[in-house]
Amino acid sequence: MRPTPPGYQSKLPKMLSSALDTAERVLEYCKNHDLLTDYDAANIEDLIARDEALSLVYVDLQDKDAYIKCNSDEDFEIGINKRHHRNRQRFSMAHEYGHYQLHRSDIKRMAVGERILHRDGEINPVERQANNFAANLLMPEASVRKALKAASNDVATAAKLLQVSIAALDFRLANLGLNNGK
Ligand SMILES: [Zn+2]
Repeated sequence: MRPTPPGYQSKLPKMLSSALDTAERVLEYCKNHDLLTDYDAANIEDLIARDEALSLVYVDLQDKDAYIKCNSDEDFEIGINKRHHRNRQRFSMAHEYGHYQLHRSDIKRMAVGERILHRDGEINPVERQANNFAANLLMPEASVRKALKAASNDVATAAKLLQVSIAALDFRLANLGLNNGK
């Protein structure tokens, strides 16, 4: 064995967050690290907490939902509106986590503070990508079907089971084509 240099401290390897750039990979990671909810969706708060380069804070953001900002290459901060319902906060977290995994090099140029899902006709592809990523993490198709079944197709009840807002579930049902043309 090589001698340990003085002052050396063994550190656990960092999470390979660069490999988590699709919702499928993130869900697989969650599955392997006991980070899934009862409905096999990502436990987003614990997932963020596990990443050494990410910190999560709850702040007063007035009419904004959330932000992500880059303090350094190894230090990103996600801010969540502390006044919002827990379920709405989860989607905001997952959206910002999407920017972190998909758009990391652009975060420095992003405005600090945004509204999520409540902008009519979102056409910005970066925002659409983050919304879809978030929807996939929190509402995998099988989980949505299972929740709808358990809720006898009542969307409000299914949203509660999935721990998301009704607005988030409506968005997901539309992108899965399960909204009966609504
Ligand atoms: Zn965004």
